[in-house]
Parts: sequence; C-alpha cells; structure tokens
Amino acid sequence: MNWRVLLMSLVRRFNLMNMYNQNITSQYIGDEISIQKEMDDNALNIFKFHVKNNNKYREFLDSKGFDYSNLNNIDWGKIPTITKADLREYYPEIKSEIYNYSSSGGSTNKPFKYPASIESALFTWPSHWMLHDVFGAKPYSKMVMIMGSGNMKKSKITLVYHKLSNIITFNAFDRSTTNKQKIYNTIKSKKVEIIYGFASSINEFLLYLKENDLYLNIKGIVTTSENRIPYSQKLADKYCNCDIYDQYGAHDGDVFGFECSLHDGLHINHKYCTLEILNQEILLTAVKNKAFPFIKYQVGDLAAGETLKKEKCECGRVLFRLQGLNGRTIYNFKDIDGNVVSALIFDTLIKHDTNVMQYQLVEKNNTLFLNLLSDIYTQEEVDDKYLTFAKERINKKVIICLNETMHKLANAKTPLYINLDKQNGEN
Ligand SMILES: [Zn+2]
Repeated sequence: MNWRVLLMSLVRRFNLMNMYNQNITSQYIGDEISIQKEMDDNALNIFKFHVKNNNKYREFLDSKGFDYSNLNNIDWGKIPTITKADLREYYPEIKSEIYNYSSSGGSTNKPFKYPASIESALFTWPSHWMLHDVFGAKPYSKMVMIMGSGNMKKSKITLVYHKLSNIITFNAFDRSTTNKQKIYNTIKSKKVEIIYGFASSINEFLLYLKENDLYLNIKGIVTTSENRIPYSQKLADKYCNCDIYDQYGAHDGDVFGFECSLHDGLHINHKYCTLEILNQEILLTAVKNKAFPFIKYQVGDLAAGETLKKEKCECGRVLFRLQGLNGRTIYNFKDIDGNVVSALIFDTLIKHDTNVMQYQLVEKNNTLFLNLLSDIYTQEEVDDKYLTFAKERINKKVIICLNETMHKLANAKTPLYINLDKQNGEN
C-alpha cells in the first residue's frame, strides 16, 4: 500500500484507499438504468434525511410552500432548488454530523463557509485519483499546483498537509518569467508527474515553454475552473509530452467530473453527487453530506447541452458524462436597449479559430472589449472577422483588442467575462 495514502488515512481517521478502490471499480459497473436509479435513490435519501433531522432545512422548505408531510410520496421535480443565498440565510447545519468546515471563496469574492460530514469532506482526493489513473499516475503522485493567491498564505498545517500530499504550489498571480522558470526547474528536478491549475495559468506556462524552447516529460496536465483553451493541447503534447484533461469540481455540491483520454465529456462520479441539468443550469445534490443540505443546489454553472450523456463511453466507463461547461450563469451583459446577452456569444466562433489562444470579454464605460491572444492575427484581420460578427449581433459598442493583458479576479482566476464598471465580474 502507498505509504502516503496510509498515513493520510490515519490522519483523517478514514480509509482513503478503500474509497479510491471503490471509485475505480464502480466506474465500470452498471448501465443507464441502474445508474439513473442509483442517482435518484441517493438524492431522495439525503433529502429525506435532512427533512427528518434538519429543522432549518424544513424552515426553508416551508418558506417555499413545499409540502413534505408524506415522505413516501415526494415529487422530486417539485422540491425547491436552493442557492448560496438561501444557505447563508437559513444556515441549515446539523452539528452532530459535522466532520469539518470548508470555505468556497470560489469565483465570488465573498467566502462562504459550510460544514461537511465525513465522506463528503474526504471524497475529493480519491476522486481526483480516478482522473490521475486515466494517465497512469498513482494516488499522491508528485504534483505542481498553479492556483490562486489563497493558496499562498499557508498555515503550518497546510504546509505539512501539502508536503504529505506531495503537492508543490505556485501562485497563479505571479506571471513573472522568474516564477515560470522556477516552475519549470521544479518539475524537472523533483520529477513532478502532474501539473494542476487554472486553464489560463497552464496556457501561460505552456507558452513560456514554447518561447524558450523548454521541454518536459510528465504524465498529465489537469485544468480546472475555467473554460478550456483548446490551443493548450497542442503545446502540452509538444512541450510536456502529455495530454491535458479537463476537470470539473465543486465541493459545495460534491461534484467531481473528469475527462478520460477520449475527451468526450466529463465523467461524473455519481457516488457523491446527483447532477441534474435544468434549462442548461447545473443542479447538484451532495448525496453524502449529512451536515448541510446541498439539495438541488444552484451552483451557478451552465452546462453545455441540455442533458447528460448516459451511454457507455468508448473508454469502458459507464459514468454519465457532462458534455461540458458553458461558463458561469453571471456571464451576461446588457446591450444599449437593456436586453440581456450571453457573454458566450463569441465562444463558438473562437473555439473553431485555431489562431486564437485565449480570449476575454471586458466591459468598461459601457463598451465591450474583446481581447484575443494570438501570435498570428493582425489587428486588421481580427477586426474583419470579429468586429463584423459583433456588429451583426450585438447592439452595443464593441472594440476588438489583440494581446492585451488578461484581467484576473482576486482569486487569480481569469474570468471569461468581467465588468470593470462593477469592478467584479462575478456576483
Ligand atoms: Zn470515457
């Protein structure tokens, strides 16, 4: 047995290897009908648990006029969805079930602290390892993490925890050449097998390797939290000799989804979360969290596609697949007539444009700036292509920019859309 897993299991007072082995086995067991039934049953069971044991959750249901008096006859479709604002207001925790608290600073700048019961608190890494297994890495393989500044203010406990977990962190905010060279040197000298980070940070690092003709040989790169950047794939292949796998995770809602080597959607680990898509919006039910009711929780993400892909994947996994993410629900702006327009309006056009490495839509002084990163295009060419497109579809002033610095949020994420007039692109 892997000594790190053993040690962490002792520290956590929970058998992480067992959880991991169950994840690995279960991803090949079942069919569309049995998995759907399991997801439905799990969701209903955690709902019943909270109705029975959680008076604050009952208060919330009462406020929505939902009748739960007959638990044997619950219409799942009618159970009210719950938002972060609702959870802040009612704070429906069950103290006796709490193992620890987590905080989702996430993409909003208002941290939200919430409790988890034991399996919910510990499911994350054994789920990550399912993805690491796709590219042949083992639990706690050496990993470089390029993440938000929050990761940098490390307490002693976090330092020890990272050391035991074999994680070396770098600040995604530090875009200096020195930092990128340091990341490269670390990966090379410490025999790092995995790089994990925001899609934009990974892309920047890969571009640095390209500019300086530096080569690495690692097992896999995992991107998270932001829209994927297709251009990175080519760079990873050439400069890191590996593939990039997108991952979708939220601990508020206990969802974990990961790409297999076929890159045809994100396999959802349904043992911890029942995921539904309602009018494109993702709803999560954390089926193992007995301490806090993330039940039909509106996490704020939009799905690509109206439904989950339920058929067995060619990789052999039967886990349902989320076809992709379409950004946060707050990625909307208003045109001059006050009509709401999705900031994803350029997304399809840009996705099929291999000359664009990354893009961002910035709103400032009632003008939209579409910033494209490209080492191929001229200003004239992007105006010709993108300004023409924008003029036909958006009733607002649009300016196309080339290779401007991307705006980052306080947590170092690069949002696809940011409104500088509100000084905060999200929430
Ligand atoms: Zn697959």
